[in-house]
Amino acid sequence: MTVELISVGTELLLGNIVNTNANYLSVQCAKLGFSMYHQITVGDNEGRLAEAIKTAMNRADIIILTGGLGPTSDDITKETLAKVLGRELIMDEHSKKRILSYFERIYPDVNRNLPEGLAKITENNWKQALKIKDSIVIDNENGTAPGYIVEDKSKIFILLPGPPSEMIPMFENGMIPYLRKYQDKVFVSKMVKICGIGESKAETMIMDLINAQNNPTIAPYAKTGEVHFRVTAGADNYKDAEALIEPVINELKSRFGINIYTTSEDVTLEQAVIELLRRHKLTLSTAESCTGGLLSGRIVNVSGASDVFMEGFITYSNNAKIKYLNVDADILDKYGAVSEETARQMAKGCAKVSGCDVSVAVTGIAGPTGGSIEKPVGLVYIACHIKGKTVVSKRNFRGNREKIREQSVVAALDLVRR
Ligand code: ATP
Ligand code: MG
Repeated sequence: MTVELISVGTELLLGNIVNTNANYLSVQCAKLGFSMYHQITVGDNEGRLAEAIKTAMNRADIIILTGGLGPTSDDITKETLAKVLGRELIMDEHSKKRILSYFERIYPDVNRNLPEGLAKITENNWKQALKIKDSIVIDNENGTAPGYIVEDKSKIFILLPGPPSEMIPMFENGMIPYLRKYQDKVFVSKMVKICGIGESKAETMIMDLINAQNNPTIAPYAKTGEVHFRVTAGADNYKDAEALIEPVINELKSRFGINIYTTSEDVTLEQAVIELLRRHKLTLSTAESCTGGLLSGRIVNVSGASDVFMEGFITYSNNAKIKYLNVDADILDKYGAVSEETARQMAKGCAKVSGCDVSVAVTGIAGPTGGSIEKPVGLVYIACHIKGKTVVSKRNFRGNREKIREQSVVAALDLVRR
């Protein structure tokens, strides 16, 4: 089955809001095994919306529309679809009752004689109780605009409200159960998350697999400092789909080895690091210069990090590095704050002061100012001290200040892991 998504809303075209619905629905359709070949965004304009619907009908089996189901006059999705299909709009008594009880719930005084304009159902709210004749109404548990499934000849139209808080539960509870019967396969996907290798290199390392892919498919995603590969297989049942995925995951494991930090969709790099340290009963402390707390912040994102993470120092100035981490003033003088030697001393000092088993230090030039020919913006040293040994990694990151700091954090977490 092929799907086309039509996002309706002038505010989407003006860039006032981000089309997160498209993002969500694309993921869901892929999970259901439907092929989404086209997406279009169109304003609240009847002519252009009608045109978009006709185009979609010519090339997709399922047409999903989001937005424009509300009570106001610019909400025209249902009305326009009815016109295009030449079908009538009729009052749906069930929806009418629901709208009334919705207002009673949020404005208990709705039926009393309140002053004009106060918590009264306005006339246009009843517009939301109209349905296209012979369509299926899907209740909205989080708002007033119902959703609809309209079957028309061989086409299926799925109409969803715009607000994500209404759209997502409705899609999950009302639409997925209906769409499942059009699924001819089940799909299973697994994620392989890698750090320490850039996106293009990672892709090159498995180009033969990507080129030969069919079922399973391998899709790369780049995240700051990381690359994720999603491996997806479709089969008649879950067991067969998993059996198809398994050998590909094993092949990726053998090619990327230690660079893989997890094969679980939900596990983040910081979680993997904390988990690893916990398993080995090791404690962790941090000493940060250019990342200014970003690294400890990421670590503390992990619930239960307190078993492992003891303390973090933000030593931005040279003085602070001397005062809190016992970095040698001479070393700072001779090599500078951004140097292998300073990073090494920061990690060592941090381990000593904190008494932790593992200490990680970051010092670098995040820019945009402060770089030089010998020490350009993006030069970052990361040191990890563990059981009397210190390793230092020198990196040259690119990008703006934010990107350089984020990449430094990923590299620091990655170094701890190795
Ligand atoms: P309402 O009853 O709230 O008017 P509606 O179904 O008519 O719902 P719209 O009027 O199109 O939906 O959009 C209402 C709000 O929902 C928008 O202002 C926006 O905040 C959010 N929204 C709409 N479409 C999207 C989208 N594609 N992605 C994310 N948010 C959206
Ligand atoms: Mg609206």
